[in-house]
Amino acid sequence: MKAYDILLEHQVKPSAQRLAIMEYMMDHKTHPSAEEVYAALSESMPTLSKTTVYNTLRLFAENGAVLMLTIDDKNVNFDADTSQHAHFMCKCCGKIFDFHSQVGLRKQKELREEGHQVDEVHAYYKGTCKNCLNINID
Ligand SMILES: [Zn+2]
Ligand SMILES: [Zn+2]
Repeated sequence: MKAYDILLEHQVKPSAQRLAIMEYMMDHKTHPSAEEVYAALSESMPTLSKTTVYNTLRLFAENGAVLMLTIDDKNVNFDADTSQHAHFMCKCCGKIFDFHSQVGLRKQKELREEGHQVDEVHAYYKGTCKNCLNINID
């Protein structure tokens, strides 16, 4: 699916800047922060501001085009993979990995805990990633 279609599908008007940000998100499934997206795009888009990138990503998240992650208490991260999955953050290098196993996660549409309607499910795991574990062994 193209960035253009994803934005339209989520009721986001696809401006050139929004398209560039969405395309970056689709090409980089590394859960970038607004700062990282800004740093990557600002060279080719000199009129882009950090605030615009942040507000655009917030808008995408509010409309369901991306996920907003609050796993890192110093940063907000964004994810173009909106399928339900859990996240693991390495406390050593700060990288965020996807956990696609559905253990402990139920489909949100099936989930109506005590009569409440659940719209979002966030599962965050933290620890040391395999790369950092290997470095520590050497
Ligand atoms: Zn690590
Ligand atoms: Zn993810």
